[in-house]
Amino acid sequence: MTENLVIIGSGPAGYTAAIYAGRAQLNPIVFEGFSAGGIPGGQLMTTTEVENFPGFAEGVQGPELMKQMRQQALRWGAQCITDDVIAVDFSQRPFVITTDEQSIKTHAVIICTGATAKRLHLPGEELFWNNGISACAICDGANPLFDNAEVAVVGGGDSAAEEALYLTKYAQKVHVLVRSDRLRASKTMQNRLLSHDRIQIHWNCEPVRVYGDQVLRKLEIQDIQSKDLTELFVSGLFYAIGHIPNTELFQGQLTLDPLGYIHTEGKSTATNIPGIWAAGDVQDHHYRQAITAAGTGCMASIEAERWLAENALLIESATMNLSLV
Ligand SMILES: Cc1cc2nc3c(=O)[nH]c(=O)nc-3n(C[C@H](O)[C@H](O)[C@H](O)COP(=O)(O)OP(=O)(O)OC[C@H]3O[C@@H](n4cnc5c(N)ncnc54)[C@H](O)[C@@H]3O)c2cc1C
Repeated sequence: MTENLVIIGSGPAGYTAAIYAGRAQLNPIVFEGFSAGGIPGGQLMTTTEVENFPGFAEGVQGPELMKQMRQQALRWGAQCITDDVIAVDFSQRPFVITTDEQSIKTHAVIICTGATAKRLHLPGEELFWNNGISACAICDGANPLFDNAEVAVVGGGDSAAEEALYLTKYAQKVHVLVRSDRLRASKTMQNRLLSHDRIQIHWNCEPVRVYGDQVLRKLEIQDIQSKDLTELFVSGLFYAIGHIPNTELFQGQLTLDPLGYIHTEGKSTATNIPGIWAAGDVQDHHYRQAITAAGTGCMASIEAERWLAENALLIESATMNLSLV
């Protein structure tokens, strides 16, 4: 038997794709992933309050939001399997998706495997992750912890510059920690950073340890050349040192961009292989938000449904639905 659609990943992109595909009667199968401790739901399972997802005026806990998305997908007939996909074969049709337990043939695939923020794994970091330490200023900058406080951003590229400038909306002072004696950010971003009176750049240094009690209180940084240590009394530490897209599985089978993200065509979510789409953080290193992941998950599902219909590949599903009635 060949399935209509397999969705790989259970973040906002995967579940949104599943909700739309379920409603379009594609009977989607969602491989939710197992490696995150057997807990489906993606990155938002690791956070507390989500304040910027529309529809929740008072905010919503990340795990609760993902539970609701999962239930909505199940309600529309998605079959959710908490397993990792360990291999894919996109060289022939139907495509083959393999887990430890099974191999499934499918006409269409939507890849929503997300990305993982790089962390420094400093001593003490685990204690303050999501409670002072973050990899997303847009997500966490408005936390009252940072109101009129001092915070630090690690990195010297465009993302670090954007995060630092964004944080000046809340923090009284932003320290930017750069490993070398120059910024990699674009000239415009450099100018904005260097001319900001509440941003201080610390050159040739790296963070070495964080300290605090209930919350983050202090960061120790080290001069890379002299090895001198300096203390910064910050309430927040933001990593802007890049993300790793979860695309290892697809290397050599799909076109990836120079950063390893899945390349999608123009305004669509189509990959270079017809019948395969990619949505969410796995194809987006620009916005990296739950709502944009959900938005592209919706796009991918609509594109998949139209493609299956145009290619007369939906017959099997229609027959299946009729036989169920
Ligand atoms: C701590 C934290 C706080 C955040 N806060 C906010 C916020 O407040 N607001 C906001 O908009 N955004 C926030 N974000 C960003 C947001 O979580 C991401 O943009 C969003 O989750 C991306 O969704 P996604 O569906 O693309 O991927 P993800 O959420 O990364 O989900 C990817 C899924 O793919 C699965 N997967 C990976 N490989 C495989 C495989 N081989 N087989 C099967 N499954 C696989 C994973 O298990 C996971 O379920 C936050 C991120 C973090 C880390």
